[in-house]
Amino acid sequence: MAFKPANKIQDLQYFGEFGGVNPSISDSSTYTFLSAKTMFDTFEGNADGCYLYSRHSSPSNLYLGEALAQMEGTEAAHVTASGMGAITPVILQLCQANDHIVASRTIYGGTYAYLKNFTPRLNISTSFVDITKLEAVEAAITKNTKILYCETVSNPLLEVANIKALAVLAKKYGLKLVVDNTFSPLSISPAQLGADIVIHSLTKFINGSSDTVGGVICASQQFIDQLRNVNDGACMLLGATMDSYRAASILKNLRTLHIRIKQHSRNALYLAEMFRNDGLKTVYPGLNTHTSHEIFADMMNPEYGFGGMLTIDVGSLEKANELMELMQSNNLGYLAVSLGFYKTLFSAPGSSTSSEIPEEEQKEMGLSDGLIRFSIGLDNDIERTYLQMKKCMQQIGVLQKVSV
Ligand SMILES: *Cc1c(COP(=O)(O)O)cnc(C)c1O
Repeated sequence: MAFKPANKIQDLQYFGEFGGVNPSISDSSTYTFLSAKTMFDTFEGNADGCYLYSRHSSPSNLYLGEALAQMEGTEAAHVTASGMGAITPVILQLCQANDHIVASRTIYGGTYAYLKNFTPRLNISTSFVDITKLEAVEAAITKNTKILYCETVSNPLLEVANIKALAVLAKKYGLKLVVDNTFSPLSISPAQLGADIVIHSLTKFINGSSDTVGGVICASQQFIDQLRNVNDGACMLLGATMDSYRAASILKNLRTLHIRIKQHSRNALYLAEMFRNDGLKTVYPGLNTHTSHEIFADMMNPEYGFGGMLTIDVGSLEKANELMELMQSNNLGYLAVSLGFYKTLFSAPGSSTSSEIPEEEQKEMGLSDGLIRFSIGLDNDIERTYLQMKKCMQQIGVLQKVSV
């Protein structure tokens, strides 16, 4: 039977402390114990349902985690203060000194910097590979490899990882397949395709309001318990804990995610098709010209579409900047990093979100200066948006003016 992530979120039922339809927000950092014995048991990890201290867990965070675990179809989930606050402890929980990671070379700039510059200090090394070339992935695996790391849809090149095939590889070599699914919530459910651990930056589509950072780790109960362990759990000890107020507000936004994703996808597909027809170099996984269109289509939960992210290449950074400034002054979106907002957001990744990646390597992976990344908004009238964007492109000579 097809996996229905939004149904699973909706099927959760809440009765707040006073019978409210939303769970009450837990406004406490610490919790009383009726008996000293229970406190001891809780520290030992043997008292299910008891709260200890809010860095460990809190009712509000557990509600949000439960909903996100339902969304990904994993046994459990742990919410964190940011997406990086989810990624970094997962890596440190799974790896020790002398361990090795095989990662996609086209990953979020912060994750790339962490694996390239930070974890080597702890003697954890990473080989960066073209994740779409399975032979290259397999060839990079060593006897010290512990993790296969990728993004479902990569940032900013929108390459699609073949999760099913990577899961087979991970199994063969006894690795954990860790997938950052930030770009494709609901559309793709990596855990259903064999991923061991699914991470999201909640900052983006899932919260969708560009008003907070947040993250989540969706995995087996056993792994989530390890992360929270008071003695050696990376989430517990590194301390990137989400605040209860934020957990409550993200949970409320999560309930409209399915409606938003459908609209993001519809709008992005429309613009991608129009831009391509206009002769612009357009990358969108929903276009059948996209190199991994078939792989995405094979993995997806079809009703949610191919997501809200697309890129165009306008030839040079100068043109890219000119176009973005013009679109912003015409109220077509914001010149801003991040994604998943109701308004369209655009940025030139080479000089912003992927600037951690050296220029040489940017070239090698096909990240060109003139690339503009769009997170397409929830525009009610995308035809109007398209015509206005086209006008901007014509005004600066990115598109020829065609007389009618
Ligand atoms: C933004 C982002 C992150 C980091 O999340 P924060 O919430 O900013 O810490 C990680 N991965 C991807 C794909 C992202 O887009």
